[in-house]
Amino acid sequence: MTTPTFETLGLAEPLLRALQAEGYTTPTPIQAQAIPLLLDNNDLLGIAQTGTGKTAAFALPLLQHLSANKRKTQPRSARALILAPTRELAIQIGDGIKAYGRHLNLRHTIILGGVKQHTQVRAMARGVDILIATPGRLLDLVNQGHVRLDQVRHLVLDEADRMLDMGFIRDVRKIVQAVPAERQTLLFSATMPREVAHLANEILQNAERIEITPKTVAVERIDQGVIFVPGRQKRALLAEMLEDPEMKRVIVFTRTKHGANRVAEQLEKQGVNADAIHGNKSQNARQKALDNFRRGRARVLVATDIAARGIDVDDVTHVINFELPNEPESYVHRIGRTARAGAAGTAISFCDGSERGYLKSIERLIKRPLDVIGTVAANDDGDDVTEDRAPRRGRPNGNRNGQKKGHRGNQGNNWSNSGDKNGAKKHGDGPRKGAKNGFKKGPKNDRGGNGSGGNGQKNNRRRRNRRPEGRKVA
Ligand code: AMP
Repeated sequence: MTTPTFETLGLAEPLLRALQAEGYTTPTPIQAQAIPLLLDNNDLLGIAQTGTGKTAAFALPLLQHLSANKRKTQPRSARALILAPTRELAIQIGDGIKAYGRHLNLRHTIILGGVKQHTQVRAMARGVDILIATPGRLLDLVNQGHVRLDQVRHLVLDEADRMLDMGFIRDVRKIVQAVPAERQTLLFSATMPREVAHLANEILQNAERIEITPKTVAVERIDQGVIFVPGRQKRALLAEMLEDPEMKRVIVFTRTKHGANRVAEQLEKQGVNADAIHGNKSQNARQKALDNFRRGRARVLVATDIAARGIDVDDVTHVINFELPNEPESYVHRIGRTARAGAAGTAISFCDGSERGYLKSIERLIKRPLDVIGTVAANDDGDDVTEDRAPRRGRPNGNRNGQKKGHRGNQGNNWSNSGDKNGAKKHGDGPRKGAKNGFKKGPKNDRGGNGSGGNGQKNNRRRRNRRPEGRKVA
């Protein structure tokens, strides 16, 4: 089969020109599959996450339909409606529409919460071709009579599972009810919980289904590893790792908003430019943090899962899971922030004793164990160390040179991905670089240190499981 091009997918010339300007040469798999189906007016169920190119996959056919059937916009109305769960995602979709539609004469606007409604009401007065909105504010404006949905002919629900997580599903249902039944409907979701499947059933008609599995995104281009580290030593470890200049643009994930603030503050104190982004921050603060990060004014962005959904910043070199997510799917979303647009990337997860269950769930989802790239021994009696998962020789806190146990200064470690200088990343071949600072990076998938891999690893795990819990390495 020949590889499709944007041209052979059936896109019109003004769109092709815009794609060229964006530097897109080849359609991503979801684009190759979805664009012809959507141009053909089908409904679509897309199981895919951000990072797969799904925005262009739905935006390009949408722009083509709207420009081919040019109609005057009606006051307070939209011809197409795109619903997104977060403000960041809505803004990014808006950026995509603007970029891909630059040679078309179509109007779009964004409606989202957290800012005054006045400008949004004004932008809707004449009507738009494309409305991108978060559900809560949209429903609010619909109820106030500022927005009408009876002209909508194309409806896109993006990140439906996140809508569910954020409690938007009822609002979404109400919005869908206000949209005429005669329409094209697209639903995208990274995962398919039961409620999302029900929703898809209700709103789609004879939909085509496309599934871009997260594991291809996760495994192929991202160098993933875990460091076992007691909770209270995570901040010191993070600070030390950030001394590596190869960590140029880093997203650090925490589970809580409070945790994100704390980590960002700590990094700032240590002279690392860092911003936090989470749901308690105002829209302006979030946008400012994102801009700072995008422009390189902040090297580190500390984020919670919800705020990070849809963050689309190129050249993120590293994702660090300061805390593991309790939903394994979030792991895949998080690490998808690196290795965007075909680049390689590195994802490092910190795992303390209480998070091993989360680690197991993640490994089950991605169908492979994470490489153990280091173990930090407890520096007091407060925390246990994960001896049963990591090789002893990996412990970083040895007191060679008479150094104090616990956190040590950076001695030239290297946490960058194992790609060569041409950007080609080797995966799974050759030995891993040894770290010079004592965080030894073991051979890939080295969990038990017996070097036997395969069954040996399994047996080793079984043997280790018989050990009394809580023994310390240090
Ligand atoms: P998305 O999954 O829509 O968030 O897109 C992820 C990233 O990939 C964005 O930065 C897009 O600009 C980029 N992208 C999307 N499609 C392509 C393509 N065909 N070629 C290169 N980059 C792309």
